[in-house]
Amino acid sequence: LKIVILGRPNVGKSTLFNRLVGRKLAIVDDRPGVTRDRRMGEASLGGLAFTLIDTAGLDDAGAATLEGRMRRQTEAAMTEADLCLFMIDARDGVTPIDRHFAALVRRKGKPVILLANKAESRRGAGNVQEAYELGLGEPIPISAEHGEGLDDLYNAILAAFPHEPVEDEAQEEDAREEEPRRPLRLAVIGRPNAGKSTLVNALLSEERMLTGPEAGITRDAIAIDWSFKGRAISLWDTAGLRRKAKVHDALEKLSVADALRAIRFSEVVILVVDAETPFENQDLQIADMVEKEGRAIVIALNKWDVVDNKGAYLKDLQRELDRSLPQLRGVAMIAVSALRRQNLDRLMDAVLDAYRLWNKRIATSALNRWLEEMIERHPPPAPGGRRIKLRYMTQSNARPPTFVVFCSNAKDLPQSYTRYLVNGLRDAFGFLGTPIRLLLRQAKNPYEPKKR
Ligand code: GDP
Repeated sequence: LKIVILGRPNVGKSTLFNRLVGRKLAIVDDRPGVTRDRRMGEASLGGLAFTLIDTAGLDDAGAATLEGRMRRQTEAAMTEADLCLFMIDARDGVTPIDRHFAALVRRKGKPVILLANKAESRRGAGNVQEAYELGLGEPIPISAEHGEGLDDLYNAILAAFPHEPVEDEAQEEDAREEEPRRPLRLAVIGRPNAGKSTLVNALLSEERMLTGPEAGITRDAIAIDWSFKGRAISLWDTAGLRRKAKVHDALEKLSVADALRAIRFSEVVILVVDAETPFENQDLQIADMVEKEGRAIVIALNKWDVVDNKGAYLKDLQRELDRSLPQLRGVAMIAVSALRRQNLDRLMDAVLDAYRLWNKRIATSALNRWLEEMIERHPPPAPGGRRIKLRYMTQSNARPPTFVVFCSNAKDLPQSYTRYLVNGLRDAFGFLGTPIRLLLRQAKNPYEPKKR
């Protein structure tokens, strides 16, 4: 496990490095070139052992060359690392250079933990809120110098891993700067007999290109690489879906563990539903699992070839779907026949659309304009005569879209109001069928976001 600490000069990277590695163990790599800026050491935190890379040598660089070196350094270090710790100085708040490099880090698509250092002081604590704007998730306030917040850091490192298999590192190596073209990770899940293996085989049929070496031949291959319309896709092969014999065991059960593994691997999930017996409990249960794991989802309504009166039936099902899965309102449902290979291109187009939405980011200014309108249309309640104020909002993360609303007495805001906001987000910004996270945070009072 390799973890790299990134951030502009003087935010406190070396202090954290020294605390986790210990000065004695640090090896200064003084080969010429980018690596000169880098220190590496074996670190431990709460029993967790990992290699820590510090980019602190940058602190000595002159301002003129700083940006270029920092970019190169950041790129190189990120490529190597499994996880990035992006550090800002909570006392200074978010600076333009922080913003610039946060964008670089986001594009790389590696797991990131955002650290707001020097948060021990009162001044620091107030500015932690700004850090949400960086779009790198929830900032963890720490004090590297005083050793505060390290248990939160520990928990965040643990949490970053079960979801992020690092098996496609080879591909990440040649990810280009502008748009990381890692294969889109896709899983096909559903009840037994819904038609998963038929669908997977149809998707991978000879007209489509298998790009992986000996794809599907190696017994222990977990993911099959192929491509659709030039987009590289890595398809999770749940328990050998593709090779499954045509023989069926009527008692075959849904393996929740298998489904969960597939969901966690994936970025987008195709939930295969049998159109003859649609939306049974298990289907809804799986859909809910996908929502809880925060993945993008598309529903394939399979065996459409045997359905009569298709038009009326589809309308009924659409209604039923919106009623049973309000948490995924607007999710795409595509009627297909895996057996006859019908409508599979539309299904895949929906997968790409869902992926785009799942990655989408909304500018803070647009969000706050929208929030004002929402409040005006329907003001939050005033429990005990004190109206809850929603002060400010920003998108703290994508994949899935995650929003943070800062408000006075956050804990009193009713669920119904949160739902109102989430539904509004779906309509205003087109987040249909995507899991959305809305976090309420207590605004420090008085809190005035900086104008920019
Ligand atoms: P899995 O358990 O979800 O992998 O289901 P399978 O892919 O093995 O399919 C179960 C059964 O449904 C098989 O007999 C398939 O031939 C049949 N099947 C799959 N897709 C379709 C379809 O689009 N139309 C029809 N009519 N039958 C299908």
